[in-house]
Amino acid sequence: MESKQILDIFKEITRIPRESGSEEQITAWLLDWAAQRGLEAKRDAIGNVLIAKPASKGKENVPVLVLQAHQDMVCEKNEGVQHDWAKDPINYVIEDGWMIAHDTTLGADDGIGIAACLALLESDLPTGRLECIFTISEETGMDGAEAMASGFFTGKTLINLDSEDEGEMFIGCAGGVNTESVLEYGSVAAPKGAKALQIRISGGIGGHSGDDINKERVNTVQQMARFLYSCPVDFELASINGGGKHNAIARECAAVVFTSAPEALAKAFAAFGADLQAEYRLSDPSLAFESKECAAEGICIEHKAARALIAALCACPHGVYAMSQDIPGLVETSTNLAAVHTAAGKAVVLTSQRSSITSACNAIAAKTAAVFELAGATSRHFSPYPGWKPNVDSHILKVCVESYKRLFGCEPAVKAIHAGLECGLFLEKFPGLDMISFGPTLRGVHAPGEKLELASLERFVKHLEDVVTSFN
Ligand SMILES: [Zn+2]
Repeated sequence: MESKQILDIFKEITRIPRESGSEEQITAWLLDWAAQRGLEAKRDAIGNVLIAKPASKGKENVPVLVLQAHQDMVCEKNEGVQHDWAKDPINYVIEDGWMIAHDTTLGADDGIGIAACLALLESDLPTGRLECIFTISEETGMDGAEAMASGFFTGKTLINLDSEDEGEMFIGCAGGVNTESVLEYGSVAAPKGAKALQIRISGGIGGHSGDDINKERVNTVQQMARFLYSCPVDFELASINGGGKHNAIARECAAVVFTSAPEALAKAFAAFGADLQAEYRLSDPSLAFESKECAAEGICIEHKAARALIAALCACPHGVYAMSQDIPGLVETSTNLAAVHTAAGKAVVLTSQRSSITSACNAIAAKTAAVFELAGATSRHFSPYPGWKPNVDSHILKVCVESYKRLFGCEPAVKAIHAGLECGLFLEKFPGLDMISFGPTLRGVHAPGEKLELASLERFVKHLEDVVTSFN
């Protein structure tokens, strides 16, 4: 199996729309792919796909191995970029040993996992029965894994191909939950003579709310709230909108305010921007600040509610909350202030919490809700998913570590991850399932600029091939 072959399959996948929740085209493509090769395949009601290959001659007694990737991808693009996620292929380039999409996400998370599975299914490598599972909507709540029937696959050992540091074997993951807080407010007319001013923070690096939460990157929603909370110039808030997906760190945020002193407010915002650029000069070197007068309907959020919203966004915890006491360097508990949107008398704030300890996850989710409750909002928690507790005595871990040492002459790192993997959900339905997760090196997943390191892909392919052929 060559890494070029996997890359070619992945390039084909980049042409197939597969935004979370709209996976119909990739699902159909996978089933068609299996049909063309005469492979056993099925799709369940929600859209999960299984494609299986029988054991090679002489390998009939080898236990079934399940390989798993997710069909969907996070669809993010830079502002101003034209890209229709329902039909446009992803634009990528190969640059300095990386495959990279500059203006959008690349979708190597987890398209490269799909490609690796298909290459294995297509190969004539000597293996036991392989069952490749492709779930849907992993990125928006793991709906596919959650809805999967407990008999969907038969194997008792699963390799998840959805982690992103080659040379690292993952044997545990965080659980999580999302929290939505809604503050209802009345609207009032803008003060007479006041001018509408739009202020905007952009150029944050953003990133994944699990993997990147410990990188101290700017959260533009929280920083906008910080400015508005301490703004020395009187204003009324008309709107505040920033962030996007629950699992992405907010890269942009804009607010529209009415003020009788637009120049003074713009000046204060510029001074704030200079402070912030200094604070985040290493983590977010492209932070930008802009204020301009704009045409806005003369309607504002009633003052008290606006003040409460701003204070809550400012006070809301964001970032690493606790480090693991068991595994050095592992973020144990974190929370992400993901997005705020105001419209039609409602401010909706989306946050997401993660922890390797379920009770700690519930505690940080409650703390976040409490902040918004103080502001008069009501909160709901949704899409919880369980964590996956490490098992250092795992058989597949032994197989993978021995293979890695044999191939590359060094030990892979064995780690747990501060992000959700579908493994936690599989464990609930397939008790005793022996699992591991690994993949090639990806950087900047879930944000425009996502990239795949080609040298790591080569090592990953060698390792995967060795593991599936030596597994017994
Ligand atoms: Zn993924």
